[in-house]
Amino acid sequence: MRRAVCPGSFDPIHNGHLEVIARAASLFDEVIVAVSTNYAKKYRFSLEERLEIASETLTSLRGVSVRPMGEGLLVQFCREHGANLIVKGLRSSADFEYELPMAAMNRQLAGVETVFIPAEASYSHLSSTLLKEVSALGGDISPFVPKAVMKRLRTSAE
Ligand code: ADP
Repeated sequence: MRRAVCPGSFDPIHNGHLEVIARAASLFDEVIVAVSTNYAKKYRFSLEERLEIASETLTSLRGVSVRPMGEGLLVQFCREHGANLIVKGLRSSADFEYELPMAAMNRQLAGVETVFIPAEASYSHLSSTLLKEVSALGGDISPFVPKAVMKRLRTSAE
């Protein structure tokens, strides 16, 4: 049984994330989407909202589940959930430079491997930060995010 963890803050989840999660689901038996929270960080969406959005959006993907991840080590979360693989999407060499030391550390700490999935070219410019900026300035981000995100944005604007 190959169980992988896809971690992120997913504030909010977007089509680039969804594509990587779907590809991970086709490679592994089970994929746990781990929604992180750092209490020092300010999020646009609460943890509950980020969990709900991810769950609503991913409900039809077989083998994929969504779980909250506390502030502890990612390898500890992996251990607690019986996973020995981490999946990360790579958009650019900057992502790679950032991810490489973490991947080495996670392997040395706990023998957990990291698998990198190259971002689909049409999504490689997407980041949650950029989408939040565009949306806050009145841009339409509906082509880039699932419906569940647009629904939350509309209700919070009312
Ligand atoms: P962070 O944890 O830095 O807030 P995110 O939650 O946005 O980052 O992303 C979680 C994971 O999704 C990371 O592995 C990141 O590289 C990957 N990712 C983010 N955006 C994309 C994208 N457009 N295409 C593929 N992978 C992506």
